[in-house]
Amino acid sequence: MTEPSIRLARGRERSLERRHPWVFSGAVERVDGAPEPGDTVLVRAADGTVLGRGSYSPASQIRVRMLTIDADEPVDESFIASRVVAAAGRRAGLLRWADTDSARLVFSEADGVPGLVADRYGDTVVCQLTTAGADRWRNTIFDALSGLPGVACVFERSDADVREREDLAPRVGTVRGSAPDPALVAHESGLRFAVDVATGHKTGFYLDQRNGRRAVAQWADGARVLNVFSYTGAFSVIAARHGATSILSIDSSGPALEAARRSGALNDLDVGDLMEADAFTALRGLRDRARQYDLVLLDPPKLAANERQIDKASRAYKDLNLLAIKLLAPGGVLMTWSCSGAVSADLFQKIVAGAALDARREVRIIDRLHQPSDHPVPLAFPEAEYLKGLVLQAQ
Ligand code: SAH
Repeated sequence: MTEPSIRLARGRERSLERRHPWVFSGAVERVDGAPEPGDTVLVRAADGTVLGRGSYSPASQIRVRMLTIDADEPVDESFIASRVVAAAGRRAGLLRWADTDSARLVFSEADGVPGLVADRYGDTVVCQLTTAGADRWRNTIFDALSGLPGVACVFERSDADVREREDLAPRVGTVRGSAPDPALVAHESGLRFAVDVATGHKTGFYLDQRNGRRAVAQWADGARVLNVFSYTGAFSVIAARHGATSILSIDSSGPALEAARRSGALNDLDVGDLMEADAFTALRGLRDRARQYDLVLLDPPKLAANERQIDKASRAYKDLNLLAIKLLAPGGVLMTWSCSGAVSADLFQKIVAGAALDARREVRIIDRLHQPSDHPVPLAFPEAEYLKGLVLQAQ
């Protein structure tokens, strides 16, 4: 049987030649051999040259996600398994020196396994399969993850909205080994954080804020801390451990705030006040009461899901940062993030500069924060970069 293949329109091979892993629907001239969703297809340039192999997603705008640009490399179980094992291996150093048992082991295209995110918390791996290609290899992926040293449980959290774009139904549950411990914790820097793998956000914890947690530790001593969009209060736990004099955490999710209280108790720390509220409204209330803080943390959810939402998101970022800057005591520090891939670091800085201007405060950038090393950004795939933060000090 001949291998299913796609042929690109003329000139559309260029991005693949630069190692970019996506083939958009508009670049496809012809499909041969009736591939099923998630099947591996041979990708050819308009002149017939073989460019490599990728996963076919007929329901997605990203029609093919490249797996290999080596024309002679077959894509089979051992190929997929070795990609997973190699990605996990690249985190071995981090897990030793970052004083943690928790890290992202596989970050999708950035690790050569499109559609797969796998996060490790101690002996538990939580994974998310978001594309037809990843779903096609699900058993191979689960076997590879459960075969990693020290892994007792692999739990699937394939319930992200993006699955709908590929016509994939949600799937949640234990897929290898024992069920995850309901009292699962992530250990980091001598602290314990409650991780709710079954119903928490993402895979249960924001591993991508590891650098942010370090920065909070540096600035918390003696500070009145305001943690906006606190989720399960990781920053609040850090602030409590590192000498904050008061802490207020705000989030719209009651269960997340309950987990914050639990994480505090797990470390014998008082995480301070927890406020279940809409952050925009709560910040206005604090401003009207002329509250002042020495450290404000502002980590909103993704406000722009795509390019079309950039303007609306920019206004929301401006609003939040304006309010946050007004709440800073003289010399106070604001850590402000955007996790919207569609909002560039450059644009984000401009928005925050506009907010400082409107607040009539002299504000300086004293540091920049990025997604940590287990969320790498291939030079050929800058789309992997999404989290950027500014550490600002007000005069
Ligand atoms: N800083 C956190 C992660 C924040 S994720 C950490 O390091 O763990 C974003 C959080 O914003 C989520 O917990 C979500 O519940 C909350 N959220 C979303 N919209 C909100 C709103 N309008 N007001 C308050 N919280 C909101």
